[in-house]
Amino acid sequence: MARPTRAHIDLAAIRGNYRHAKAQAPGARALAVVKADAYGHGAVKVARALAAEADAFAVACGEEAMELREAGIRSPIVLLEGVFHPDELLDVDRADLTPVVHNHEQLEWLCRARPARPLQVWLKMDSGMHRLGLAPLGFAAAHARLAACPHVSAIVLMTHLARADEPTHPATAAQLDCFRTHAGDLPGSRSIANSAAILGWPAAHGDWLRPGIMLYGASPFGEAHPSAAMLRPTMMLESRLIGVRDLATGEAIGYGGRFVCERPTRVGVVAAGYADGYPRHARDGTPVAVNGRPSRLIGRVSMDMLTVDLSDQPAAAPGDPVQLWGDLVPANAVAAASDTIAYQLFTGLSRRVPMHYEDAT
Ligand SMILES: *Cc1c(COP(=O)(O)O)cnc(C)c1O
Repeated sequence: MARPTRAHIDLAAIRGNYRHAKAQAPGARALAVVKADAYGHGAVKVARALAAEADAFAVACGEEAMELREAGIRSPIVLLEGVFHPDELLDVDRADLTPVVHNHEQLEWLCRARPARPLQVWLKMDSGMHRLGLAPLGFAAAHARLAACPHVSAIVLMTHLARADEPTHPATAAQLDCFRTHAGDLPGSRSIANSAAILGWPAAHGDWLRPGIMLYGASPFGEAHPSAAMLRPTMMLESRLIGVRDLATGEAIGYGGRFVCERPTRVGVVAAGYADGYPRHARDGTPVAVNGRPSRLIGRVSMDMLTVDLSDQPAAAPGDPVQLWGDLVPANAVAAASDTIAYQLFTGLSRRVPMHYEDAT
């Protein structure tokens, strides 16, 4: 019999979440961000499920874009980091990709390119995140240089927010101000908003939304936020109990004996561990669901197994289903108990975990 660890992906829920993103800003278009294999959900499957209604897709790099093109996805695809070498502009031309330009080198490569067809470009300003983007003061000049290239047909102006997940933080207002001031009245559409800004900062909506994590059903704010409550979980990581034992008070569980029973404790052994992508740093008490009911992790997570408290479930037996995250156990709750974020849980799912897709249309 096969190992019972598997991920269920709900493609209809991803479509619903995409619609929820667009409903926040009627009239705006939205790039569905499918970088990093669609946050671990399978980029080709997700792009196919969204292709009929997504205005465009966004990926990190040309390799990710080519995977979608080879699978027959014909929608526009934005390369969020642009090209890494001028030669890549040949692929951009051939595969009809839309590069971001975030520095002067890329700007020069692009201006010197001689593509067979006109290129659309997303020009990025560093409005305060200080990772990628052109300095605000040189932005208008860079725009003018691009606009003067006969092979550049359209320029979208973009920036990225560093703290949009903090609902009232002044850094976001400052970034919006900076962008507004230095993009000024340059022609072209505007794109500012990641998931957190889509849900929490209407002033950042602009013309093109860029939803990522919200497509995959996790709130960008961590736990509770009213505008994230409508999101539907899209990845269910599940396994089963493969052992049950009763331990006496004082007995320790697993490597390092991290958890010591404070009372007689029934312990379940689950066939999922950090080699599947479950976080090794998950603390005792991290939520799980056994037979659809709340339980908690006890003891250190090992490579292929983890252990849970079955004290409230005397009838639990090997073969019973366990949900590690999904509709019963928010990925954000597991992430919070492991000092990480749902983004990392989703993208960290390992190749060993078979993926099962559902698409209730
Ligand atoms: C990844 C990414 C996004 C999506 O961010 P989420 O927080 O997942 O919504 C948006 N814009 C850029 C530039 C990105 O790199």
